[in-house]
Amino acid sequence: MMPENCLFCKIVRGEIPAVKLYEDDEVVAFRDIAPQAPLHVLVIPKKHLEGPAAVAVEDEQVVGRMMRVGNEIAVREGFPQYRTVCNNGAQAGQTVFHLHMHIIGGRSMNWPPG
Ligand code: AMP
Repeated sequence: MMPENCLFCKIVRGEIPAVKLYEDDEVVAFRDIAPQAPLHVLVIPKKHLEGPAAVAVEDEQVVGRMMRVGNEIAVREGFPQYRTVCNNGAQAGQTVFHLHMHIIGGRSMNWPPG
């Protein structure tokens, strides 16, 4: 998947709409279009990385920022208890091949996940 055709790169570039909750020079956070809980936000790097397996040493800092930003949004939205999910590969449930961290909260969660 090239960045030109990537759905989340298009959101980063503002070519398709999203309800953005946060943006800085490295990350963007926006509401999931099909929320699975009262809080369902996606935090992504602006840099196109296909998924967790594509994270290189040079990307470690932005992944930490994704987690910090996700926590700040969850607290701000009133859901300080939440689950983070990063799917890696289709078998794990990844459908968009641009690294993203789900922030899901506002309801009880089951373990193990399905
Ligand atoms: P995953 O299955 O982990 O790859 O998650 C992809 C997520 O992206 C799903 O939860 C989708 O609902 C969400 N999604 C797909 N298209 C959009 C969009 N245009 N805006 C916001 N979220 C989207």
